[in-house]
Amino acid sequence: MEGLMMDYPLTTNTILEYGNNVFHHKKIITYLPDWSRHEYTFGDMYKRCKKLANALTKRLGVKRGDIVGTFAWNHGPHVELYYGIPGIGAVCHTINIRLSHQQIEYIINNSEDKVLFVDATLVPLIEKVAPLLETVEYYIIINANKDFKTSLPNTIHYEDLLAEQSDAFEWPQLDENEASGMCYTSGTTGLPKGVLYSHRSTYLHASVVMSPNVANVGNKDILLSIVPQFHVMAWGVPYTCLLSGTDMVMPSSHLNPEDLIKILKEEKVTKATGVPTIWLGIYHEMKKNPPKEKLALKEYVVGGSALPESLIEAFEKDFGVKGVHAWGMTETSPVGTVSQLQLKHEALPYKEQLKIRAKQGIPAPGVELRIVTEDGSIAPRDGQTMGELQVKGAWIVSAYFKTNNRENFTEDDWFKTGDVATIDEDGYMVITDRLKDLIKSGGEWISSVELESVLMSHPKIKEAAVIAIPDKKWRERPLATLVMIDHEEKPSVSELKEYLSRDFAKYQIPDDYVFIDEVPKTSVGKFDKKEIRKRYAEGKLT
Ligand code: ADP
Repeated sequence: MEGLMMDYPLTTNTILEYGNNVFHHKKIITYLPDWSRHEYTFGDMYKRCKKLANALTKRLGVKRGDIVGTFAWNHGPHVELYYGIPGIGAVCHTINIRLSHQQIEYIINNSEDKVLFVDATLVPLIEKVAPLLETVEYYIIINANKDFKTSLPNTIHYEDLLAEQSDAFEWPQLDENEASGMCYTSGTTGLPKGVLYSHRSTYLHASVVMSPNVANVGNKDILLSIVPQFHVMAWGVPYTCLLSGTDMVMPSSHLNPEDLIKILKEEKVTKATGVPTIWLGIYHEMKKNPPKEKLALKEYVVGGSALPESLIEAFEKDFGVKGVHAWGMTETSPVGTVSQLQLKHEALPYKEQLKIRAKQGIPAPGVELRIVTEDGSIAPRDGQTMGELQVKGAWIVSAYFKTNNRENFTEDDWFKTGDVATIDEDGYMVITDRLKDLIKSGGEWISSVELESVLMSHPKIKEAAVIAIPDKKWRERPLATLVMIDHEEKPSVSELKEYLSRDFAKYQIPDDYVFIDEVPKTSVGKFDKKEIRKRYAEGKLT
């Protein structure tokens, strides 16, 4: 029997209308690359989304199902694109500005972007690839001065485009299963793969992410979105904030620790999102130059790679700011799990609570996890048995764009994450490693993530990245690359081994340690182990 409830489509337009009806006075604040500060309300933004919808359909000839690219930092106009483009039934494809020219060219041609919205400051990057782009008909330049010059063909300034349009527009009736957004994986293994989000998945993800057991954001918060809009839709922040009535602060290109601290202070930000390297940088900067007044920041949500327990503790003890650890992927929209404590944990000693908070966490409602061991069986939820993490749910990828390749999916349609993990009886998941980073020494597995986490708790170490190196006797051994807080104060190898021996068996402790100036980072700010392996192979890490 069918239920007798309305068929109410969950679309980005539903989010936008709700945000405008209920939270029209809430703000979007942008710090542009030249440090000019721009502030407007959800209500102002709403009107500009309608102008954009008119421009897309009437001036640029964009049709339902077309894909429209964005190549931009985090700012108000980029939020407008998050709504205006899917609002007319087209797909908002955010392109990672930090990828190589070849990858950018591949992605834009593969997705067949019809129009490309580009930040004025990023135009030089697009000029290099433009002659190779096969489908782009117009380049719309955002935040350009009047005297802005470019060699790109068919350019229109974003403000001119909107200025000529009316702010009256009737949204089309969309099916919630139509595509709304698109993001390619970073291509750490092979070519980048397109992930196509639907209106429904975007709506459900945003509404669950704001809830207390997940990221816990509400209309009393001011949220700084450090995670770029070109990386997994900024973790859904522009959608979550309209549903929850949260003020949004957008840093555009200001991503170094000093700049971020300045913005955190000036805007009295209470919540922020970012990868661990960002928070590591902010923490060390605050240690060096302690802020005169306590920050308004209460919590930072962190994911993308493992958040070391030592950083959660240090940030909290030194500055009273709480780290909330989350796990996810481009393929999972991205929020899969978040490590929030439960009532029964409140009586535990602080150190034990920290251990739970440093786990990757429990699945968000709407997401299911399982661990499959090497022999193909489903692991017990004992917190011990390791295997590949597989996931399914309302905002998990079901296939990649334009390919029939099913190697990342199981026969029973779970998504294979490529992460190795355990799940305990309370459902808390712990990532041991990515399959390709796990180290197999003499038949025993060693987790690079655990080694890095403990190494980074050493008082002299700022960053630690561990890779496998070939070994005649053991086949593979771990090699630790280390960045010191103070370059003059390097610990000795015996001191490091002694330090690790408290948490690791002898065979797990690296024999080799290399001191480097900085750990190379990927386009989304993670430790770039592919690059570290390459440097090792070239004999540059000795
Ligand atoms: P890429 O695959 O290019 O790194 P993603 O952003 O999709 O791009 O990365 C997803 C991967 O990042 C996960 O599969 C996992 O290995 C890693 N990851 C994400 N969050 C965490 C976390 N909290 N702890 C450990 N690893 C994480």
